[in-house]
Amino acid sequence: MNTNRPVPLLDVPRGNAPMREEFLEALANVIDSGRFLFGPDVKNLEEECARWSNTRFGIGCASGSDAILLSLMAAGLREGDEVICPSFTFFATASAISRLGGIPVFVDIDAETFNISPAALEAAITDKTRAVIPVHLFGQCADMDEIMAICDNHGLVVIEDAAQSIGANINGRPAGAWGHFGCISFYPTKNLGGMGDGGMIVTNDEELEDRLRLYSGHGMRPRYYHKVIGINSRLDSMQAAVLNVKINHLDDAVSGRQKNANLYHELFAQSGLSGEITLPEAKYGDGHVWNQFTIRVHGGKRDELKAFLGERNIGSEIYYPVPLHMQECFRSLGYQPEDLPETLKASQQVLSLPIFPELESEEVRIVVDGVKQFFAMTQRRAA
Ligand SMILES: *Cc1c(COP(=O)(O)O)cnc(C)c1O
Repeated sequence: MNTNRPVPLLDVPRGNAPMREEFLEALANVIDSGRFLFGPDVKNLEEECARWSNTRFGIGCASGSDAILLSLMAAGLREGDEVICPSFTFFATASAISRLGGIPVFVDIDAETFNISPAALEAAITDKTRAVIPVHLFGQCADMDEIMAICDNHGLVVIEDAAQSIGANINGRPAGAWGHFGCISFYPTKNLGGMGDGGMIVTNDEELEDRLRLYSGHGMRPRYYHKVIGINSRLDSMQAAVLNVKINHLDDAVSGRQKNANLYHELFAQSGLSGEITLPEAKYGDGHVWNQFTIRVHGGKRDELKAFLGERNIGSEIYYPVPLHMQECFRSLGYQPEDLPETLKASQQVLSLPIFPELESEEVRIVVDGVKQFFAMTQRRAA
């Protein structure tokens, strides 16, 4: 009998409900102003994101995917240029490279953090390498000290994919403040989620800020005179108004995620499952903002555990089941699955559990109990 209360992987309405009145007021102001693009809401959010990222500038755009695309455009990526990135990430990290005629060069991850391995990155550098896109996956920064040392040494452009990681940091230095560009996503399930699509690029470089604004506005300057071939990618005032409300509560949202991660660690430590699963570790302590709480499931039991939890109405998800070097659309690049062994292994073992800020302690307990029951069942079956 499955009598536990359901625990969703995500509950966006639960997070938004306490801010409902604030949202309505902010949206009413936008409606009354008639300024649906640019305007004070967008400018304020750009400043707030720059503040969170400890950068000089924030440039709004239509999505996290566009933030990466625009960064590569502003960096002057040319056809045939190689860009190094992880394979264990969301598709948008690499698709922008291919769209501009560049060549994604996929490298393996560090087994402990799921983030790009600096040694693998360095080994992949050729005389065609122009840029590197480290991803701060699941809310934890990649090893930026090492990565910046290597990239500076080789004169490479660094575009941080911070889509999942606004506010993540290493000893107080935030995601987005290390490289030339930091790319943030406001997709509803990200740590700062809007009510639709939206994105932001942060940078310290005034010239890059200027180029990003040029490329995101059809390369037009002045009006109807096009200097370069850009795209149309804008953050609208409705999204910005909503996000300005939410960014004021982002500290609390991050603490909520960290509190849940700590409780998972505490409860799993008492569960005696250390041989069956591996917990995610925060290499940089409270610098981890836990967009996901991703465990490894050993013994080939990941899919079975996911199904077991599903039957008990406990949400979980696999981020990501197919690494990019194994995607059909990248087949012509000629990778074999075993070329990136840690990436392949991660894709077969990972399972993300509910971690959203408003998740209650009782719900965390239900998830941990579900995992315990699954392994108790498999042990009985084996005996
Ligand atoms: C979500 C995400 C993106 C893309 O952001 P969108 O706003 O959905 O376009 C890029 N990279 C990573 C790692 C992401 O998680």
